[in-house]
Amino acid sequence: MLIVSNVKKNYGDFTAVNNLSFTIKPGEVFGLLGTNGAGKTTTFKMIMGLLEPTEGSITLDGKEITYDDVDKIGYMIEERSLLPRLTVKELIIHYASLKSIPEDIIIERMKYWLERFNIPDYEEKKINTLSKGNQQKIQFITSIINNPQLLILDEPFSGLDPLNTLKFVEVIRDFQKKGSMIIFSTHQIDHVESFCENLIVLEKGEVVLEGQISEIKKDYKKHSILIVADGLKEEKLRAIEGVYDVLIDANQWIVKIEDESYANEVFKYVKTLKNIMKFDVEQAKLSEIFIDKVGDAYEQV
Ligand code: ATP
Repeated sequence: MLIVSNVKKNYGDFTAVNNLSFTIKPGEVFGLLGTNGAGKTTTFKMIMGLLEPTEGSITLDGKEITYDDVDKIGYMIEERSLLPRLTVKELIIHYASLKSIPEDIIIERMKYWLERFNIPDYEEKKINTLSKGNQQKIQFITSIINNPQLLILDEPFSGLDPLNTLKFVEVIRDFQKKGSMIIFSTHQIDHVESFCENLIVLEKGEVVLEGQISEIKKDYKKHSILIVADGLKEEKLRAIEGVYDVLIDANQWIVKIEDESYANEVFKYVKTLKNIMKFDVEQAKLSEIFIDKVGDAYEQV
């Protein structure tokens, strides 16, 4: 189990992370999200024992985490930092030997993963001759080659095509089934919703949203109503109590209401219209909740 407890990190006078606490259990995928500069990388570095918290503690299975735990951790960083002139095999051996894995085992595991990612004959290829997606596969392999107990994935799917994204998902799920703890960071909220049960959103080092995704969604009162009907007047919708925004998207109206209970009033008005083809009341999407909490900057980064 990983326990991050009241962690603070200062760089000089500047607080990059403040009062951060969360727990990850074996087999859990945990979302750590935030806009640029929110404090994610700082948090990852503290978890890997590369930076010491100014306050608080980070423990792995009850013991304070240090750089010696690096053998148990896999980290796929957001910036792709492969050494371009090495061959795939040289690069994988380089990273894996930093994690104290004997070379024969590295080779055996490398062959398995190259096969699994459909690039079995890539051992001798130079990194700088690989496509972006294949470089990403190699980077992913370097982060899982030690069968990590804790796997940190920062934007693992950026730039991958849908088939390779599925392949990555399948492998991450396998690690999850084997009991690895996975920290997942991304700006693509749909991935978070399908992947993680719990999450934390950081903004300027402070936690602005946290908990179980299903609970976060349940607690968030705002809803949308999707309407397709003839003769609808925007100003009439806006005049209804509880309506705080009205948008048009393709052929449908989207009416934003403060709480589900206001849907009835909207329905009373829509009933007076002709050709009502749609009236769906929907819970807010996770991405809408994020934007509400951290501002529109989130989806643009
Ligand atoms: P991004 O998504 O852009 O990578 P992040 O959430 O990973 O952002 P961090 O890299 O942890 O954010 O940075 C958090 C804050 O701390 C930023 O304001 C950054 O400028 C600052 N910071 C990071 N490293 C240092 C450092 N070594 N010295 C001083 N300030 C730093």
